[in-house]
Amino acid sequence: MRPLPAAFAKLGLAVLADLLLHLPLRYEDETRITPIDDLRPGYLQQVQGVVTHCSVQYKPRKQLVVRIADQRGELSLRFLHFYASQAAQFATGNVIRAIGEVRSSLLGDEMVHPRYRVVNEETALPDSLTPIYPAAAGVSQTLLRKYIAQVLERGDLVDTLPESLRRTYALADFAGSVLTVHRPPPDTSLAALSSRQHAAWQRIKFDELLAQQLSLRLARQSRRALGAPEIPAVSALAERLLGGLPFALTAAQQRVWSDIKRDMWASYPMQRLLQGDVGSGKTVVAALAAAQAMDAGYQVAFMAPTEILAEQHYHKLRSWFEPLGVGVVWLAGSLSKKNRDLALAQLQSGEARLAAGTHALFQSQIEFSRLGLAVIDEQHRFGVAQRLALRQKGVQPHQLMMSATPIPRTLAMSYYADLDVSVIDELPPGRSPITTKLLSENRRQQLVNTIRAQCQAGAQAYWVCPLIEESEKLQLQTAINTQAALQAALPAMRVGLIHGRMKPAEKTAMMAAFAAGEVNLLVATTVIEVGVDVPNATLMVIEHAERMGLAQLHQLRGRVGRGTGKSTCVLLYQQPLSELARARLKVIFECADGFAIASEDLKLRGPGEFLGARQSGAPMLRFADLTTDANLLESAQAAALEMLESYPAETAAHLARWLGSRQEYVKA
Ligand code: ADP
Ligand code: MG
Repeated sequence: MRPLPAAFAKLGLAVLADLLLHLPLRYEDETRITPIDDLRPGYLQQVQGVVTHCSVQYKPRKQLVVRIADQRGELSLRFLHFYASQAAQFATGNVIRAIGEVRSSLLGDEMVHPRYRVVNEETALPDSLTPIYPAAAGVSQTLLRKYIAQVLERGDLVDTLPESLRRTYALADFAGSVLTVHRPPPDTSLAALSSRQHAAWQRIKFDELLAQQLSLRLARQSRRALGAPEIPAVSALAERLLGGLPFALTAAQQRVWSDIKRDMWASYPMQRLLQGDVGSGKTVVAALAAAQAMDAGYQVAFMAPTEILAEQHYHKLRSWFEPLGVGVVWLAGSLSKKNRDLALAQLQSGEARLAAGTHALFQSQIEFSRLGLAVIDEQHRFGVAQRLALRQKGVQPHQLMMSATPIPRTLAMSYYADLDVSVIDELPPGRSPITTKLLSENRRQQLVNTIRAQCQAGAQAYWVCPLIEESEKLQLQTAINTQAALQAALPAMRVGLIHGRMKPAEKTAMMAAFAAGEVNLLVATTVIEVGVDVPNATLMVIEHAERMGLAQLHQLRGRVGRGTGKSTCVLLYQQPLSELARARLKVIFECADGFAIASEDLKLRGPGEFLGARQSGAPMLRFADLTTDANLLESAQAAALEMLESYPAETAAHLARWLGSRQEYVKA
């Protein structure tokens, strides 16, 4: 197919066929003319009149002012930017058709910078609403309309959805829907079109969701064609690990462990996302899976996004596995070259069976002799986990991803449709709920007094410094100042500081001192956001909580309430609060459940936060909106199964239409 002019690439359009699905953002109604004295302010309306006067005025600034009149009224058109040649178009007696919003000024009703053209009394009105397309520099509406007209006349409008499926899901036909959306007839409800609830839009959104489902399912099928080690579900090492734990697994932990066992027993690689609220006990489940893999003669890699978190895993794994005679290798950026080379050699020879470290390290060329399982903690921090560059010849390792940022159901069904998801939906017994308090910044002194009293009674606290997105330097300085001020206010306490710029060894030493109870109050930048586990810490202060996202607040709050003591999280905020900040604080105050918070987050800010994690792993949705189109998503999911089962040709045609030249979105 003939390529489009280069400028179209800015809109993601490569070939003519792509324009079929380059759909209007909105419409303007040029099918009728409103008499000037019927104009209502606040609406886009079209008028037609004869030029009675035109002049360039210089006060208060240079502008072109045109007066037009129809049979019943008069209106000014005002242009602040104009060319000298424009004045000629407004010769007295010319007929002007203009579209814009009317407003009242001192000089009477006017339209500022209306769209207009010179017509004559006979110029016909268009018989469909005028679509307004996403445009770009060098790609005007006019140019877009020209190419879209071509594709509507000569393009492929064949319905890729079999008749029977169209009937089952009560969907309009494709050609009719596309035509309606591009060229809505005048009797079309503008409201239904604009809200995209019109049957034509429903069909298009359905098709988009269907394409996403199909491509993710196909990606999953092709992954299934890869071989993976078959790891027996019965493992003496796992039983011994379980027997040595000071607690019993919760029912939810048992259930997800069964899911994992079933996956690892299969001959294709597991891709499971293990979700569970902070503190729900994901790590021990992963450790049990690791035990199984090792028992079957395979190696296991345990990865975390930050060195602090990776180190916690390392210590935890050692405490569990060393008594069972299994050593753990530590892989982090701070290792000396000698130690690092040693660790790598042990992994390459197969002598080492279990390694913990940061994700970055595992991504650089590590060779395992028999990697059977990769555990990836806090998956949402890494981005697309399946892009993991775990080089391995022959069989692929099983992958277990863990996330404490719950993915709302609609997202799990769409963008994450190629992963299997297990959820730990209960907390271990004996946790006391965290009390959340909202406190205005001007009550800081009172808060410091509370901290003094609590720390004197043996409690420990975190103090989280504000996120300063514009400047890392400023953020660091704020943390240093806060530590100094708190230390001065609490001379009998030891106030520690931890931030992202510290050397890993310094961070480790500080975390160890806090865990050992030698530091009473730990001032931190958001480095402690994920995974840190110090059960004696029962108070968390979050400064400028209004600047943080819901998921982040929830993660931070989850750092306390890990032991049996009563815990409190104080959210310090600065007035005035924006609408969004107020809404967020309300949610976090009222809601303790991560899943409920995640779905509120989705409503408040859309899927961006969650999608960061997928990056280009899944085809993006341009038209469907997961908060309003959940019902379409369910139909699309069911239809995709049927398509893959019974309609291979239609499936291929559908994917070509929707993802044809956008294949970069679907590289699985
Ligand atoms: P997360 O899901 O946030 O990663 P962790 O795995 O760190 O949670 O578990 C939080 C704490 O709860 C850890 O100290 C862990 O040992 C403990 N824990 C895990 N499972 C249970 C259980 N079934 N009963 C009691 N404590 C548990
Ligand atoms: Mg964890």
